[in-house]
Amino acid sequence: MQIKEDFEIKNLTTYKIGGKVRKVYFPETQEEFSALLRELDEYIVLGGCSNVLFSSNGLDGNLIFTTEMKNFEIRGNNVFAACGVKAPLLAQKAAENSLTGMEFLIGLPGTIGGAVYMNAGAHGQAVSDTLVSCCLFDKEAKEVVYKQKSDLSFGYRTSALQGGRYVLLFAEFGLRKGNQDEIKNLMERNLSFRKSIQPSLAYPNAGSVFKNPENDSAGRLLDKAGVKEFDFERVRVWDKHANFIVNKGGAASEDVLELMVKMKNKVKEMFTIDLIPEQIFLGNMSEKEEELCSILYKKNQK
Ligand SMILES: Cc1cc2nc3c(=O)[nH]c(=O)nc-3n(C[C@H](O)[C@H](O)[C@H](O)COP(=O)(O)OP(=O)(O)OC[C@H]3O[C@@H](n4cnc5c(N)ncnc54)[C@H](O)[C@@H]3O)c2cc1C
Repeated sequence: MQIKEDFEIKNLTTYKIGGKVRKVYFPETQEEFSALLRELDEYIVLGGCSNVLFSSNGLDGNLIFTTEMKNFEIRGNNVFAACGVKAPLLAQKAAENSLTGMEFLIGLPGTIGGAVYMNAGAHGQAVSDTLVSCCLFDKEAKEVVYKQKSDLSFGYRTSALQGGRYVLLFAEFGLRKGNQDEIKNLMERNLSFRKSIQPSLAYPNAGSVFKNPENDSAGRLLDKAGVKEFDFERVRVWDKHANFIVNKGGAASEDVLELMVKMKNKVKEMFTIDLIPEQIFLGNMSEKEEELCSILYKKNQK
């Protein structure tokens, strides 16, 4: 397993933002990963780093990247995938086997671990629609446990994994047989829809900034509030979709947080709605970042 010390993680994040991390591990097998989870007391687990804003002040601690654990298996209509498998790859493999239910994962630049943790979704489909069970590491008991979907409290962009007790080792999905041409056509439509409104990773970003409020769309509210005009030296709001922030080059985590607060305030002023971030802030915080995060991630918000 590769282990790096004082490792600059900026280039491993889709935002291209982040600082130095004291120790970074890249386990290659489930066995290595579980042994590491048993051994370490404090750590953060990351996959594609596509839903996080990592602090430019780095992290004085341990970080485990799952991206070297890439094995998966298709048995009948069921797909078993290690946490580090790239979500779009699994969608493609499912399509090759004429299995429907994963078409939404095309173009989503994360891993299965991050997708289950976030209960990622798009185009009317979500991870929890087809998830059957998970093999998890229980941090409290320090042992491997199996849970059914019904044990994991899935909701819109939430799951029991967000409680911090469990780390996903691998997941089982139950798909349905479908028509391969129809599956591939749906994936193409999903991908071209994404391309028409979302920034590609050539414009560093971490997907939707805020969650949709109930029965509304964060993008719609932000657009109406006029945030597409926010274009600063190193960060800006994407002009085709108001719920995306793009790093124009050399941005720091503080630049993004400041812009997030401006966006949130605009919507609050116009609609009296408190937008809640979908993106997760990780790492050491500066004093300013603590202040900005206390505005963005208020404890009483769901
Ligand atoms: C261009 C773009 C488009 C996007 N479109 C969508 C979209 O349509 N729908 C959507 O829902 N999201 C979207 N996202 C956000 C993101 O891709 C998803 O949330 C994805 O599922 C995150 O996976 P990841 O591996 O990158 O997770 P990370 O960003 O690495 O981690 C996210 C969280 O999951 C936790 N985590 C990661 N792996 C594990 C594990 N094995 N066990 C326990 N916890 C773990 C991390 O600790 C962290 O808290 C988009 C992002 C980008 C950049």
